[in-house]
Amino acid sequence: MKYFDHAATTPPYDEVTRTIAEVMSRHYGNPSSLHRLGEESSKLLRKAREVCAQAMDVKPGEIVFTSGATESNNMAIKGATLQYAGRGKHLITTATEHPSVFECCKQLEQLGWEVTYLPVNSEGQVTERQVEEALRKDTVLVSVMHVNNETGAVQPVTAIGGMLKEKHPRVLFHVDGVQGFGKVPLQLNNSGIDLYSLSAHKIKGPKGIGLLYVREGVSLFPLLAGGGQEEGRRSGTENIPYIVGFSKAVRLAKEGERERQARLKQLKAELVRGIKAIQELTLNSVPEGAPHIVHFSYPGMKAEALLHMLEEEGFLVSTQSACSSKKAEPSRALLAMGKGAEAAASGIRISLGEEHTETDISDLLKALDKCVRRLQNLKGERKS
Ligand code: PMP
Repeated sequence: MKYFDHAATTPPYDEVTRTIAEVMSRHYGNPSSLHRLGEESSKLLRKAREVCAQAMDVKPGEIVFTSGATESNNMAIKGATLQYAGRGKHLITTATEHPSVFECCKQLEQLGWEVTYLPVNSEGQVTERQVEEALRKDTVLVSVMHVNNETGAVQPVTAIGGMLKEKHPRVLFHVDGVQGFGKVPLQLNNSGIDLYSLSAHKIKGPKGIGLLYVREGVSLFPLLAGGGQEEGRRSGTENIPYIVGFSKAVRLAKEGERERQARLKQLKAELVRGIKAIQELTLNSVPEGAPHIVHFSYPGMKAEALLHMLEEEGFLVSTQSACSSKKAEPSRALLAMGKGAEAAASGIRISLGEEHTETDISDLLKALDKCVRRLQNLKGERKS
């Protein structure tokens, strides 16, 4: 079986799983305990925070460990709007954000906040000009994802951050960095980005752990009240084995970033060439998008039919994003890009990983062509 669903989740590094098992069985102390075992865990936590901070070129105190990017996004958006409610009740985001941002904004609307959802162009992007024009006196926060999880569209977050920092320094800027980290370089330090979410399982770490970068000087209303862990920013006993495993994945993701990006770009170009050669398919992702995501539609065909046929051939791909694929609704991201209901209902996402080879891509393309031929024949038979 060949796995082509890396945007949903990634197979963890062996080094990461080994580390987790070792820390879990040997260093089980609560980092808040005063005895030796507690102190050991506390040291591991400190070290993991330093490793993440160094890889991200930020300060250790700017990192808050969470249960994943869903929590990080909620923490950033709700934590900031609650903390800075005195500044106003307006937020800006885009029409194609992940549900952990989008639904969070919807909840805030129910509670009386106003949200501007910026439309995207046909390539899934917004501009810093759009953000600037949507700003109001009472805007508290702007939230724009770095890389879209369905289409791989890359948003100009550095330009948006630069504009906000220069002209509107009081407006906070949050970036959901989940799909970009380790694949599309981004400098956090001095970028105008105040809050940045990461998830471990998208970078070959474990599920259920993530972090939020909170720029020094920014305060968030804590969503989880309790024992005051993470400097009072996120209560709950820290998941030391996963945090240590995550820190390894963060380090490895950053160390191999340029090489990984170049390699994935090559594989993507090969895949795109092959998809373009199959005339029944229409490509929705663009060459300038993230190097690991290719998205296409098969108009007139239900995406699940192709997905299951590919699975029978030994290839695992995705319809939309993993979080939305069981909801039988057309893709919100594709609709926002103006691709039409038919394209939005027949979308397939193929997402690549660093372990793929050129042979994997050519095998996948052969299988894809075979499946499309079979589906076309079935369609012909049904008509006649
Ligand atoms: N944001 C994006 C862009 C994602 O792709 C995902 C995962 N599908 C998340 C946030 C949520 O991450 P997690 O699974 O760690 O909650």
